[in-house]
Amino acid sequence: MNKKTLLLAIVLGVIFLGSGGVLLVQHFAKPQSRTVEIVQDNTVLYTFRYPVEGEQTFRITAKDGGWNDVTVKDGSICISAADCPDQTCVGMGVLTSESLPIVCLPHKLVIRFGGES
Ligand SMILES: [Zn+2]
Repeated sequence: MNKKTLLLAIVLGVIFLGSGGVLLVQHFAKPQSRTVEIVQDNTVLYTFRYPVEGEQTFRITAKDGGWNDVTVKDGSICISAADCPDQTCVGMGVLTSESLPIVCLPHKLVIRFGGES
């Protein structure tokens, strides 16, 4: 390997690492601009900035009369209680993953990460 080739290899290496670094920063910066959506029957009822501020519990009533208590705590959100028969939504805990929304099938309620704020 002569000097010219070595120099080219170094330059390419720097460019490669540089672009990789930018991608890495974009990857980690993204979650800070996320939103959380509470969707009932394909209609967005609430949108929160994530992490969610404050601490509160509020009730969402389904069209069939059922309900879900949604709790905001420690920046995250969960369904803390519900009167659905399966209780799957309560058992899912807090929302952590974009690929795994909190879903209450009997009440057609979904809590998920939305688009950028
Ligand atoms: Zn449920």
